[in-house]
Amino acid sequence: MPRVLFASLFLALLAGAFLREASSQSNFTQPLAPDVYWRAADRDKRIIANAGWVVFRDYVLVIDANYPWGARAILDDIRKTTSKPIRYVFDTHYHADHAFGNSLFVDAGATIVCTEECVAESRKKNVPAWEKASASSPADYQGQRLEHPQVGFRDKLVFDDGQHRVELLRLGPGHTRGDAVAYLPKEKILFTGDLCVNFAGNNVADPDADPDNWLRALDAMSQMDVGRLIPGHGAQGSAETLRGQRAYLAAMIHGVRAGLEKGLTADQLVSQIDLSAHKPWGQDATRNAGSIRAIYAKLKR
Ligand SMILES: [Zn+2]
Repeated sequence: MPRVLFASLFLALLAGAFLREASSQSNFTQPLAPDVYWRAADRDKRIIANAGWVVFRDYVLVIDANYPWGARAILDDIRKTTSKPIRYVFDTHYHADHAFGNSLFVDAGATIVCTEECVAESRKKNVPAWEKASASSPADYQGQRLEHPQVGFRDKLVFDDGQHRVELLRLGPGHTRGDAVAYLPKEKILFTGDLCVNFAGNNVADPDADPDNWLRALDAMSQMDVGRLIPGHGAQGSAETLRGQRAYLAAMIHGVRAGLEKGLTADQLVSQIDLSAHKPWGQDATRNAGSIRAIYAKLKR
């Protein structure tokens, strides 16, 4: 075969293989850097939280286990990017939309890690939460089980194989007591869990949320060199997203505090504190009201 013809045949085969690979990806999974992926939420399928994974030399580390049905979708998409074993899953916090899919990853051979506080929260709060969720939606939870994280770290856990480095950093209490984030210093990528979202509203209603320390957590993240940011919910962002989240939360906390000093009620504050200038965070009046009431109850103590 003439060399030129052979070369073009080879290139055509290569292009075909590449196209097949590209078309087999779900629309929700996007590469962020070599070996680093994120999977966006799919609200139509009730997969509301974002997830990610990093393909190390010998294994895969997943960020957030999602709901059981989300875990299934994430596992499918991971397998389209690598055949390496999924060895670790990091839950940013214990909430159902980030951790109820743990058992599917355990069955795939993974160990679940999160902060010690997150392990404690899972053991204390997820047993009743799981019972409630599986009772209200039995088909979704049939054959599934609650799996608590097996490894807890205090302040920091680092995965580094020379090729990739992922730092799991505890920054809570903020959204929950045990919040942690995943930072990739080489790629300047930050997975924030729900300490930062990029959509209307946020959940400061968790009984153990700590609004003031949440601001400190956002300040700590702002000190990191962040290029791309994957929030717990909403679109991919940047360091700018951290600033917007902080401004929204700070306006809410300062508004509630000023109102408390004047002796105002929660109802009065809900109607007086205008957060609509904070886009997208302040665009959902119902969520704003719930968050204002939660912060009011907390700061009033
Ligand atoms: Zn969430």
